[in-house]
Amino acid sequence: EKETRIESVDFQVGRTGRITPVANLTPVQLDGTTVSRVTLHNKAFIEELDARVGDVVRLHKSGGIIPEILRVVKEKRTGEEAPIVFPNRCPECKAELVEDGKIHRCPNPLCPAKAFQQLRHWASRRAMDVQGLGDKLIEQLLEKGLVKDAADLYRLGKEDLAGLERMGEKSAENLLAQLEASKGRGLERALYGLGIPQVGEALARTLARRFGTIEKLMEAGEEELEAVPDVGPITAAEIRRALADKRMRDLIRRLQAAGVSFEARQAQAAEQPLAGLTFVLTGELSRPRAEVKEELEALGAKVAGSVSRKTSYVVAGPGAGSKLAKARQLGVPVLDEAGLAALLAERGAAG
Ligand SMILES: [Zn+2]
Repeated sequence: EKETRIESVDFQVGRTGRITPVANLTPVQLDGTTVSRVTLHNKAFIEELDARVGDVVRLHKSGGIIPEILRVVKEKRTGEEAPIVFPNRCPECKAELVEDGKIHRCPNPLCPAKAFQQLRHWASRRAMDVQGLGDKLIEQLLEKGLVKDAADLYRLGKEDLAGLERMGEKSAENLLAQLEASKGRGLERALYGLGIPQVGEALARTLARRFGTIEKLMEAGEEELEAVPDVGPITAAEIRRALADKRMRDLIRRLQAAGVSFEARQAQAAEQPLAGLTFVLTGELSRPRAEVKEELEALGAKVAGSVSRKTSYVVAGPGAGSKLAKARQLGVPVLDEAGLAALLAERGAAG
């Protein structure tokens, strides 16, 4: 635990428009790293903590990793502290924020702060998996006005990319090929990639299987949506609101015009529920590894011998060593056997 001071507070706008207050601190050494920023989560958290700009706070690392404010050291107050004023308008686009439980959100789908996060999400591995479209590149594309949203990505040509920093001919070609390939990822990934509030990977998959096309999902009434497992009234309303939005409809229409598929890859999914996934097995498993490998391959998965960025999951038993370390280093999800069983059940592949 260490003490330091809150110097100022920024309000960041996330992909879904969620506003997160972040405190800028007088930099302090804590468990081996310098901490200069810490999240204040939401308005309720600030109120509960009774934090003010200028306050001395006690910090620790939650789980040994994430810096967290434990409390305000009120006995060190000088009277100079200023209250933290939570905005009622979006710091970027000035739209009036809407409250959603403890969360404040910018409701403007065209908010520029959201654009960066949305493009990043669209291109992410679990959405459209456009490798080579990193943060720096997204920033440049936005700054030069080449791209405003995901649909614009598919209008990029070699000549647009040629003028960008660190973009050789080869990497431009690769990026265009990646974009081309991403058009056929299917409804579940495209739906996840749109970043509709409440619609994570698992729900996107369920919705894709249930409705098959984006048109059918758009037509679905509240009752029909609520009949889907894991969809309650709030989520149903959120999905309907997002898909009824004129700008969202326009985005989907332009993505479709560019050739992006909003149809479920259902036939394939039904026969081969693990199609497109690559597994690496390591450590001691309860069954012979060859047997597990065979089972996964029969369900459409690939089983590889080494871990790379393309690995979807590492299944690790006791005694796992370097492959497990590599997975952690690359951020590849690691499952134990129970986790694998749960994944198979979720994909409808159990038994
Ligand atoms: Zn905004």
